[in-house]
Amino acid sequence: MISVSEHLERILSVIEPLHPLQLGLMDAHGCVLTEDVVAEDPLPGFDNSAVDGYAVRCEDVATASAQSPVVLPVTGDVAAGPASPLRVQHGLCVRIMTGAMMPAGADAVIPVEWTDGGVATVRIDRPVPAGANIRRSGEDVAAGETVLTAGTHLGAVQIGLAAAVGRSRLVVRPRPRVVVVSTGSELAEAGTPLAPGRIVDSNSPALTAAAVEAGAIAYRVGIVPDDPRQLAATLEDQLVRADVLVTSGGVSVGAYDVVKEVLSRLGTVQFDRVAMQPGMPQGFGTIGPDSTPVFGLPGNPVSALVSFEAFVRPALRKMLGATPYERPRVRAVSSVALTSPKGKRSFLRVSLGVDQGAYVVTPVSGTGSHLLAGMSRANALAVVPEDVEQIAAGDSVEVLVLERRGR
Ligand code: AMP
Ligand code: MG
Repeated sequence: MISVSEHLERILSVIEPLHPLQLGLMDAHGCVLTEDVVAEDPLPGFDNSAVDGYAVRCEDVATASAQSPVVLPVTGDVAAGPASPLRVQHGLCVRIMTGAMMPAGADAVIPVEWTDGGVATVRIDRPVPAGANIRRSGEDVAAGETVLTAGTHLGAVQIGLAAAVGRSRLVVRPRPRVVVVSTGSELAEAGTPLAPGRIVDSNSPALTAAAVEAGAIAYRVGIVPDDPRQLAATLEDQLVRADVLVTSGGVSVGAYDVVKEVLSRLGTVQFDRVAMQPGMPQGFGTIGPDSTPVFGLPGNPVSALVSFEAFVRPALRKMLGATPYERPRVRAVSSVALTSPKGKRSFLRVSLGVDQGAYVVTPVSGTGSHLLAGMSRANALAVVPEDVEQIAAGDSVEVLVLERRGR
């Protein structure tokens, strides 16, 4: 029997970050940048109006007040888009829209709300200081400035910024491509009629979704029966599009545990009993000409998902170049007594909440590794270390926070 940490270390010593690739902007979303992004031009690119209003020389409106407004002739309009040929002469003004280039001669913009909104002439009720309501060129980003550095995780804002400085492609670590296979002759596709004794394959949908949530591109192959030849053929077929293979089922000591049989023969895959609950039997190694990593996860639905959290997710995060690999961990007070088998690391399905400013966890499921509905109520896993068998109510426990998010 090996420990969870030993198994994870072995996995992470084999897994490497994927080689950087130039991707289109939207394909780079969610990836980690491996280049610095430098703005060639300033942002804003030119002085422009921050409001809809009137471009003026501020000295011309210095005396404006509600009692004695200043009235200026309006010599033209400038909209966002075309560069304006207009010049604001002394005693005149130009109507201007938000984002329009400042006309020469003007040094401030009066918001339309401080005027009568006139078209031929405009009545201005308040003065403005020089520079008012002008967005200056380079105020956000200077020409030559590095706006995003290598290692940045590209969320929505970073994608917007890259676009704003003119980048349509970015060099990033690509998303790992994960192929998910369920094994078991008892399995049927969701939505198809079930013969007696058969069950629906919930692992391939769950693991595919988990891989997507971890940032991967995931392909759900679905069900392969417990037949060594079919399994070997499927895995060999899938290798071309896989950076990682994930199988579920067939790794324990039953008579039809074909994953163990097939993978042991295909590459360097090793099967271990890992001191954890749930999820004790685990396979990991590499197969095929490119030494593709393969995870042989146990078949029980909760075991498969907890194993994914403990081993596959960190591996996928490492391939993505994301740090840290692991989910956030917090310490929380347990609302009830918890027990854990001696010598094993337990992952207990809990609900994590906050009570009077402190994190509190409460179990939401029994420990059976078939209790998937119980797991669906958990937003965290309480992690009870190998050398702890009891946690008293009110004592603290380490908790892995499972954020629920889409892709
Ligand atoms: P195994 O690891 O193949 O012995 O499977 C352990 C248990 O998990 C058995 O009760 C299986 O029927 C169940 N199981 C295996 N694969 C799946 C799957 N893809 N979806 C749901 N349950 C499964
Ligand atoms: Mg099986």
